[in-house]
Amino acid sequence: MSRISYINGSYVHHYKAYVHIEDRGNQFADGVYEVIPVRQSNLIDFKPHLDRLNRNLKKLKIKFNYSGKALYFIFNRLIYLNKIKNGIIYLQISRGTAQRDHAFPEYIEPNFFITARNKKINNKLIEEGVSVITTKDLRWKRCDIKTISLLPNVLAKQEAIDKNAFEALLIGSDEIINEGSSSNFWIVKGNKIFTGPLSAKVLPGIVREVLINIINKEKIDFIEEKFTLQEAIDSNEAMITNSSTVITPVVKINDKVIGNGMPGPITIKLHQLIEKNIIEQIVK
Ligand code: PMP
Repeated sequence: MSRISYINGSYVHHYKAYVHIEDRGNQFADGVYEVIPVRQSNLIDFKPHLDRLNRNLKKLKIKFNYSGKALYFIFNRLIYLNKIKNGIIYLQISRGTAQRDHAFPEYIEPNFFITARNKKINNKLIEEGVSVITTKDLRWKRCDIKTISLLPNVLAKQEAIDKNAFEALLIGSDEIINEGSSSNFWIVKGNKIFTGPLSAKVLPGIVREVLINIINKEKIDFIEEKFTLQEAIDSNEAMITNSSTVITPVVKINDKVIGNGMPGPITIKLHQLIEKNIIEQIVK
């Protein structure tokens, strides 16, 4: 089966999907992206992803005129054409193609493309948890915008992989854990769940948003508060969240064991609740 992607209005063979060399995404990382989960061939949390995309386009003054309805249709078509069961949709929108110049033209057509791929659900992650490392947060001062400028994130993740860890937590100059290289970070102390408040140092993750809604609905103790590496090491449970793996328990930080070294009861409970929320979105 040949893989099909979508680029600037056309469905094309994946290996024939190109942008121009003077695409501003390519030259300046002048663009935004989204990763939307697919479960049992259904889009999950489409609306909050679309809302975040629109907020980010506005922040970068990129004028993209596809409606949410059109995107929903294209995403579903790609799910069908590529026979996606469980996986992800990746959408990238750059400002467009123009002669290289830092300032951008007033009238410019965005370049955008969408890819779809299957991704196996790895149950071992939730059953056993993962190890993470910490590294300096070298990113710019607007980490709240989901731009394709990801070099510090890429280097941090590679550092984690080179050290046999799953993720790198990014530590600010104030010793606070801001988030992971591609995830939000949470800890549990006693019965209380903590994650850092939204700020320019944190990406407003969709799983973060959905999970906070669930936590509030279930009346579980929750505090949006900054915490340090030492506080995380001293916590009872820790976890990371993102759209590709939803909730992943963290059982070691820099080789220091968290709690009893196994995914804790609150993490497991949150995982069950968010999975229930996903199943409820799947059309029978
Ligand atoms: N923080 C960063 C830096 C990320 O790259 C991601 C994943 N895109 C997240 C948090 C989690 O966001 P989401 O839950 O929307 O996948």
